[in-house]
Amino acid sequence: MHIFSQDDASARAGAWLTVSLKAIANNYDLVAGLGAGAECAAVVKADAYGLGAAQVAQALAGRDAGTFFVAHLDEGIALRAVLPQARIFVLHGFMPGCEGSMAAHGLIPVLNSLDQVRSWKWFCEQAGQAFPAALQFDSGMSRFGLSIEDLAEPALFNGLNLQLVMSHLACADMPDSSANEMQRQRFVTMAAAFPGVPRSLAASSGIFLGPDYHFELIRPGAALYGIAPSEGRRVLAPVVSLDARIAQIRTIQAGDRVGYGLSWTAPKATRVATLGLGYADGFFRAQAGQASVWYGRTRLPVIGRVSMDSISVDMTEAPADLKAGDVLSVLGPQQDVDALARSAGTIGYEVLTALGSRFHRVYVPAG
Ligand SMILES: *Cc1c(COP(=O)(O)O)cnc(C)c1O
Repeated sequence: MHIFSQDDASARAGAWLTVSLKAIANNYDLVAGLGAGAECAAVVKADAYGLGAAQVAQALAGRDAGTFFVAHLDEGIALRAVLPQARIFVLHGFMPGCEGSMAAHGLIPVLNSLDQVRSWKWFCEQAGQAFPAALQFDSGMSRFGLSIEDLAEPALFNGLNLQLVMSHLACADMPDSSANEMQRQRFVTMAAAFPGVPRSLAASSGIFLGPDYHFELIRPGAALYGIAPSEGRRVLAPVVSLDARIAQIRTIQAGDRVGYGLSWTAPKATRVATLGLGYADGFFRAQAGQASVWYGRTRLPVIGRVSMDSISVDMTEAPADLKAGDVLSVLGPQQDVDALARSAGTIGYEVLTALGSRFHRVYVPAG
């Protein structure tokens, strides 16, 4: 009964996300080049910003990346299964009592508080082995890390097997902000209490602030995924494209209305296409009235409210013969993640990490 099995996942898909591991690898090379002299780690938390941590990490390991960062212990455990050899840091450290899982999977906790420092030391003493750890300092963002006061008693840190000391910049995407230099100086001062331990301050935007910010290890995430390091700075290769097939197309009359709340009214007879992606897929409801999709170089406004599973598109400017099954571009050459983010009043990071799991995914190999 072959008529029941002719299709495959790509034929069934109403929308598909293409992730170029090649572009990610090229972005890694570019950023690593900027940080020459410093080791270039890769941040693959949140499933590599939604793009697939296993695929991304393997592609980068093939490009000689040896160090990776995740946020949670469970992300580290999953990544360990994919990369048996890599050095993996867990940014949030561990919940009380979970030191054993951390060590059992060969993961390195980033210790963010004196409580975590004490727990890790106690655990290592019990185990009779100084498992590696990193320390994070709060250099001004008041988010994670030890304060200057926490460093007052150096003996507390004796016996730790420290692989890294690190901090995080709050304003690196604003190169002119005086907070950057202020945080850098604080970081240098705090790191001086741990001579010889490699230092890391710069995430993606921080790397572009220049060599003063690189220290011994840089840790880009967003830049690998093609997000601009600061407004208007397009140096990185775009990594994702998102294409959607027209699910249905109709012509409505002047005065007819579209979508939930009937919030959009046709000023004249209008062709309207329905695409099968919505806020459950990361196309934000707040984008109603702002966003567009594209047919080639033709911009097509999204009209009416964004539904959970669909959006409506004004096809006035599109060729008249477009029909169900034809393809429109949501993310592509005319609209990158940063541009789509602007139409939603947010940043590329949020658009990427929100892209849903329902899209059919195609990976372009790193080569
Ligand atoms: C997320 C994160 C990074 C990576 O940040 P990008 O801006 O995506 O490069 C680096 N360090 C820490 C502590 C982070 O939380």
